[in-house]
Amino acid sequence: MEYIIVGIIALIISVLGAFYLTAFNREKLNFLHSYIFESILNKWDKKLNSMAEDEWVIMDYDSFLRVLNPLERALVKRLYSINPAELGFTGPFYSKEKPGRLVKLDSVEFKTSGKPRSSGVQYCPAHSYEDFKQMAEDYFNETGRKIFIDSGYRSPGRQAYVFIRSLVRNNGYSLNKTAKWVAMPGFSEHGSPVNNAVDIANEEGINGFSDDQVPEDFEKTPEYDWLRKNAINYNFYLSYPRDNEHGVGYEPWHWHWEKKGGEA
Ligand SMILES: [Zn+2]
Repeated sequence: MEYIIVGIIALIISVLGAFYLTAFNREKLNFLHSYIFESILNKWDKKLNSMAEDEWVIMDYDSFLRVLNPLERALVKRLYSINPAELGFTGPFYSKEKPGRLVKLDSVEFKTSGKPRSSGVQYCPAHSYEDFKQMAEDYFNETGRKIFIDSGYRSPGRQAYVFIRSLVRNNGYSLNKTAKWVAMPGFSEHGSPVNNAVDIANEEGINGFSDDQVPEDFEKTPEYDWLRKNAINYNFYLSYPRDNEHGVGYEPWHWHWEKKGGEA
């Protein structure tokens, strides 16, 4: 009798082991991979709930991994060793490194078509924030209107969490689908420590993506028009114009900082 029980247990372990070790089914993860990612998400949710939001948005990648057990950690590492290009994502890799000094920005309260919305606390690497601040000041002096950072620096650790949350909650455990909407850690321009991106909103809260907005809503603003002509003077560049080479959708609100050579 014991032999049978031991045999059954051994069989179950080897079957589970095989389901664990097998390659990811990118259309839909197998039941064991799905189960483990769900429990990873639950652990992270619990951890994040115990932290202030302004801490967790900048949590680094290694701190995220430390919350997990070795089996979970190995699975996350396997996930993020996939080249997202194989999942149809064609953007470049930026970095998983930590940025230098981050400036913490208070949440901005918007009222977009009468509906309140807040940006939440945001961060921006100090060097690019200096330029943004100058740009916003000059724009205000010229027009009496304001621009804001609606979304700033996002750490690769947070990106790792957001990807798995979207995989589990929004995309039915399909890696292919998830990768269309969420960048993997290190592949978001918002996580680049030097050439970081910011999403810009105007004082009415128009950014082209919140609530029911479409990109053209931001394209039509005087802010976009001004940025197209002037952002370059502050080292900000539009990353994803229409039909861009990265295969990313049109994002008129998304500008990255970059110091182009040739200046003294
Ligand atoms: Zn963006």
